[in-house]
Amino acid sequence: MTIDTCKFAGQKAIVRVDFNVPLDENGKITDDTRIRGALPTLKKVLDEGGALIIMSHMGKPKGKVNAKFSLSQIVDAVSEKLGVPVQFAPDCAKAGEAAAALKAGEVLLLENLRFYPEEEGKPVGIDKADPAFDEAKKAMKESQKEFSKTLASYADIYINDAFGTAHRKHASTAVIADYFDADHKMLGYLMEKEVQAVDNVLSNIKRPFTAIMGGSKVSTKIGIIENLMDKVDNLILCGGMTYTFAKAMGGTVGTSICEEDKLDLALSIMEKAKAKGVNLVLGVDCVAADSFSNDANTQVVPAGNIPEGWEGLDAGPETRELFAKAIEDAKTILWNGPAGVFEFDNFTAGSRAVADAIAKATANGAFSLIGGGDSVACINKFGMADQVSYISTGGGALLEAIEGKVLPGIAAIKG
Ligand code: AMP
Repeated sequence: MTIDTCKFAGQKAIVRVDFNVPLDENGKITDDTRIRGALPTLKKVLDEGGALIIMSHMGKPKGKVNAKFSLSQIVDAVSEKLGVPVQFAPDCAKAGEAAAALKAGEVLLLENLRFYPEEEGKPVGIDKADPAFDEAKKAMKESQKEFSKTLASYADIYINDAFGTAHRKHASTAVIADYFDADHKMLGYLMEKEVQAVDNVLSNIKRPFTAIMGGSKVSTKIGIIENLMDKVDNLILCGGMTYTFAKAMGGTVGTSICEEDKLDLALSIMEKAKAKGVNLVLGVDCVAADSFSNDANTQVVPAGNIPEGWEGLDAGPETRELFAKAIEDAKTILWNGPAGVFEFDNFTAGSRAVADAIAKATANGAFSLIGGGDSVACINKFGMADQVSYISTGGGALLEAIEGKVLPGIAAIKG
């Protein structure tokens, strides 16, 4: 079933959203992107005459009630955005009566799911090394099923619109789906868009395909790099991970971030790229700094010839041109990870060159997907969010999807 074909009139839909919004010390929302992201799905149900039960996690209360993470703090904001009053169920596992009383067009928001350890399904207060751990885990899986069944009992239809947690097999993101048949469970609009965006870079690829992988370490990106190697035409590696490659090739990298134990890995990535005919683009020069600070002294040096006491913090001018060339003609683009320490205003040039080239290619008809935390922050810092095709809302979920892993939240619905 899809959200567009489902009939919601007279039905109750329980929707898993990601309302894990940042709050200030007074409990005021500082960024409501996630709430806005879920509105199309929520409004669809209401507009068609359905009733809504909304559920989410917030923060990491680790299975315990904690007022700091109470979703009661966002009731007014959700109500204002939906344009209808929102009722609140202060205990998500005891909301049966409130849910049963809901009429068409009414909305009930459940308290933070993670106040119950059953949501994440991990046994609490017992160490993995404890001989009783396996038993505790088994018992927790059973109570997770019961918890999921309770949530499912509130509604006729289940919708998952929380892409940010789709890589977790939690009660509300996956287990609950077992209690609805295929005609009564579906992805929400936000999830559909995310799945489509990932599909565009993993299967429905228009060529040439350029992936830009940056960030601090090659070790955290290796799964993605390996999966992309079979798909891309150009693979740009940038940011801090570059210096592991420079060192592996016999260069000197000064005090640059470098994973000494990943030199062989870097060489094997280079060999694989060659064997697969992938154009691997590595920086040839960099902006080196004499300290890790925005106001450091700088000089442009070859990427593999950084003087002692200096560290590469950004891509150099020749490198920026190389990157732009490999991006501008592309028809599919994926960007994950900045090309320098973009948090410092004086070291944004590399990331900006990447962003500018992506915007240019997108204007020429390319599909560009930006995802995974820092590159999203980067695009937002440059005010260029509307110049790319799609910005993913999922950090870890997006990265796992691009690694080629099956996301439990999606598998639970699509099989
Ligand atoms: P990641 O979380 O692995 O995607 O890395 C993102 C972080 O990498 C950002 O905070 C950047 O500031 C950092 N980064 C990018 N380039 C460098 C570099 N040359 N040296 C140190 N950190 C870097």
